[in-house]
Order: sequence, then structure tokens, then C-alpha cells
Amino acid sequence: MVEAAAAVDWVSRFADEVIAEAQRRSPGKPVVCASGLSPSGPIHLGNLREVMTPHLVADEIRRRGHEVVHLVSWDDYDRFRKVPAGVDPSWAEHIGKPLTAVPAPPGSRFPNWAEHFKAAMIDSLAELGVDYRGISQTEMYTSGAYREQILLAMRERGRIDAILDRYRTKGRPKGPAAGQKANAKLDAADAAAAAEAAEGSGAADEDDGAAGSGYYPYKPYCAQCGKDTTTVTAYDDATTALTYECACGFTETVQLSEFDRGKLVWKVDWPMRWAFEGVHFEPSGVDHSSPGSSFVVGGQIVGEIFGGEQPIGPMYAFVGITGMAKMSSSRGGVPTPADALAIMEAPLLRWMYARRRPNQSFKVAFDAEIQRLYDEWDALEAKIAAGTAPAGDASAYDRATRTATVTLPRTPLPVAYRTLASIADITTGHDEQTLRILSDLDPQRPVTDLAEVRPRLDRAQTWVLTQLPPEARTQVRTEPDKELLASLDDSQRESLRLLSAGLDANWSLDGLTTLVYGVPKKMAGLPPDTKPTPELKVAQRSFFVLIYQLLIGKDTGPRLPTLLLAVGAERIRALLGG
Ligand SMILES: [Zn+2]
Repeated sequence: MVEAAAAVDWVSRFADEVIAEAQRRSPGKPVVCASGLSPSGPIHLGNLREVMTPHLVADEIRRRGHEVVHLVSWDDYDRFRKVPAGVDPSWAEHIGKPLTAVPAPPGSRFPNWAEHFKAAMIDSLAELGVDYRGISQTEMYTSGAYREQILLAMRERGRIDAILDRYRTKGRPKGPAAGQKANAKLDAADAAAAAEAAEGSGAADEDDGAAGSGYYPYKPYCAQCGKDTTTVTAYDDATTALTYECACGFTETVQLSEFDRGKLVWKVDWPMRWAFEGVHFEPSGVDHSSPGSSFVVGGQIVGEIFGGEQPIGPMYAFVGITGMAKMSSSRGGVPTPADALAIMEAPLLRWMYARRRPNQSFKVAFDAEIQRLYDEWDALEAKIAAGTAPAGDASAYDRATRTATVTLPRTPLPVAYRTLASIADITTGHDEQTLRILSDLDPQRPVTDLAEVRPRLDRAQTWVLTQLPPEARTQVRTEPDKELLASLDDSQRESLRLLSAGLDANWSLDGLTTLVYGVPKKMAGLPPDTKPTPELKVAQRSFFVLIYQLLIGKDTGPRLPTLLLAVGAERIRALLGG
């Protein structure tokens, strides 16, 4: 019974609330959940929460048999604000144009800037199993879909101005102040990333339409230069004649009742769309939720002007990252969902969003922490299989691995990510060697085809290739370290002899684990089942360092049994001095 999952986690609780609210507001109609994304540049991993939060809630609602739609609004009619790092500075000439009117970055196969950056997100959402209906704001505005709402907002501009005025604070600059305040809670690195992420969320554009010539909640894109460097100078309610002047010197008078080349300012645009689409649930980032912010002001405008209601809108906390290697970021340090999906499977990424309440921040690991995360995931999967997982954990797992309509691909034989990473590190991704090592891993269940460990293997290989720093890579010695071998005492020589002699009989991950821990016990005259004592641990550690030094010239490396399997018995014996 799907209903059994009810109220065990935050997703269920929101689903309860949203269903009840939707039935009250619009009985018999589908539930509407919404997200907004601005394709002003690469859409960052931080912005994925904007989609995952309503996705998970909408999916729960769908699982319960209700009709529900998840709208993803592409804010592609927003102005192009700045040229991101790495793009030809000459793109600055397009600042002020709608994102769909800016040429795509050089070499792109897409017709414009917005389509180029949407495409990567569309691919990632498909891989994540997110079921949504995309709405291009360029299409909506330029087709005249919002004409009545625009005329209404212009007619009611005095009331809108009065509402905005309740939140305007004298002496404090409008705009990024709210976002900066929220960011103060973050550490410096996170704050920089949060600012980057906020760039794409509409929050950076806090122009509320106030100008010297009076208040107008609408901004035309100039007929001559295509930019929004325009000021409305006159508007006639009776005829809808609108006159604007542009910074480029152009001026014209248009009939707003027939004019489709402009948009409502952000603080009016957002509540207009809540009413237009009948949105019941839409979360917002910290930068939207402070007093005077667009979410709060929008809550007033949607009811007083557009006759709608504000959606249930939890504030979601920032999603950070750990250890993203600069070289693999699509834009100097801030990763996209595609970057994350290159190193981890889709269910893992879904799991991180499902298991944390929206107001809890968390970090997506690009460093070695990803190995621990995968261990945690594998342990959870084992508990699920054994039927011993707590209800909340089981629910998060279920949301991570499937939706109401699709089950996400799973690696058939989920060998530990850290093992796969070590193998990828040692073999540098060589398929034949990888299969040889994997086939020796567990004699009870040998891997016979790399397809059994994919896609996890591919993710681990990409992680090693893109995230493991060169100094952390493992390079197996090509020649024995003669100097070190010559310096060994009898006891060290004997321990190496015991190891070499035991390789063939113990050639599996488990067998070699027992062997490498067992040699120091034997050297100390202890039986194989001896519990580790502090002295024994010291002896084991120095034995391991000796082997690492002889095999790879470092004190540490991949887990020793994995390393031994990877290097191969013959080569081990050669490097350990025969
Ligand atoms: Zn112009």
C-alpha cells in the first residue's frame, strides 16, 4: 500500500498540507506545484533544490492517486545581466536583452543563450526522473498570454506601488541587501557560491519598477536596441497607449493592449504567475524569503491585485559542495547537476534531497567524502533488503530510487564505490584489467561482465579522473625499491615472505584482508582470531606502510587488499623482493 508511507517524512507532511489546500482552493482541479529556473548561465547544483523540493512533493501526491502537475518556469525572458567568466567579453554588448535574444556561447548547437543553458538542466532532470511541464516565459510573454494580467497590473499600478512602499526602507539600498543578510550565516566560500546561485534565481533582479517618472510595473524591451534599458514615461489607462524612452535614444508610443515585447517587473511577475497558474506549492531560496523580499511582497500582491493566493512556500536552505576540483567545473568552482551526476548515480543525488528537510542545508561531496556517502547508501540498501530500515530511512530510499512513473537504473552488482574508485585509480580505467580484478574480488560471486557494475563503475572512474588530485593518484612501481629492500631487518623480510607465500591461497578481497591483518599476528606468535590490541594495531600499521612503500612508494593508498588484487600476485612478489 502506497498510503503506508504517509506522514513518515517531510515530503508526506507537505503532501498532506498541499492536497488539503488544493482541495480548498480549487476543488476537482489538479494540484499545481511549481519551480522557477533562470537559464542566465550554467544552472548550479544549488538551484536543483528549487526543482527537487516540489518534485518530491508532487511525486508523493501522484503516488496517492491525485492529479498533479509540476511546472518548471524557465525565466528565459529575464534580462541578460552579466557575462560569465570564460565567455568572450564581447558578449557584454547583449546585456539588457532577454536571455532568448542573446547568442549562445561560441560553439553551441543551440539557437540562443537560454536554450544553451536550459539543455544541460533538461538532460539532468531527465536522468533524475523528474516529471515536469516546462514553461518558457519568453513564449508566454511574447504570445500575449499574460496580456490581461499586464493591463490589470498597469491599471492597478498605484495600489501595487503602495504595497511595495510598505516594504521599502528609507536609506537602505534596495536589492541585494536581503540576499547578503541571508548569506551572512554562511561561511565565506559558501557565500560566494550562494551569490553565484542566486544570480540565476531572479533574486538578483530586485528592480521593483520605481522610476522618476512615476511607478510602472512593466518594462518594454526596446524596439531599436532590444534591451530593457527603457523607462515608461506615460501611460493612458483609457487607450492603453504607452510611451517609453530607451537609453539608446529611441522612443515610441505603443498600444499595450496589442504589445507583447516586455515583461512585468519581478516582484509583480512572480505573484501574477501564482494566480495565473493557480500554484499551490512553490518553495523559495533563502534569498527570496526575508522581509520585503519578492516572496513576502508577492504574497500581498497576489491577493490584493490578482485575486489569487500565495502558494505554500517553504524556504529551502543552501546546498553546498565539498571538494569540487576546479578543473572539472563548468564554470570555475560552482558545479551543475550534470557535474554531480557524472560522479554519482541519480538515486544517490535524489537521496540527498529526499532525506533532508528543505530547511536543512547539506553538502554534495565531490571529495573522498563521496566514498563514505556510498558506504552509507549501501548499508541502507542492505537494511532495506533485510527489512530492518526505520520507516523514515526506508521512505527516503524509496523516493530516491523510483517515482510514481519510473524506476531509476540501479547497478546490478553494487561493488563498493571506494573499491571501484581504487581499481579505477590503479588501472587508470583500463577495462580488461578492471574486469580481471573484479572477477577476483569475490570468488562466490565473480564479476563476469563490466555491465554488472555499471553505471557505478563509470561514476567512480569519472570521479578518479576529474576529482582525485594528481598527488593522491596511485602509481604502482615499475621496479623494486632496491634501497629499501636492502635496509630491511630479518623480521620485516619474514613478514614479506609470509605475505608472498599466502597470496595464491587467499586471492580474493576477503582472503587478502585476512592475510594482511594475519601476517603481523603470526609474527607476534598470536593465533589468527586474536582481537586487535593497541600493540597489534601498531605492528599492522607499520607492516602496511612497508607494503605501500614497496608497491607504490607512499605511506598510504587504496585499501591494501584492493591494491594487492589490482597489482597482481606475480608483480607483488617481484616488488616485495621475490
Ligand atoms: Zn534601445
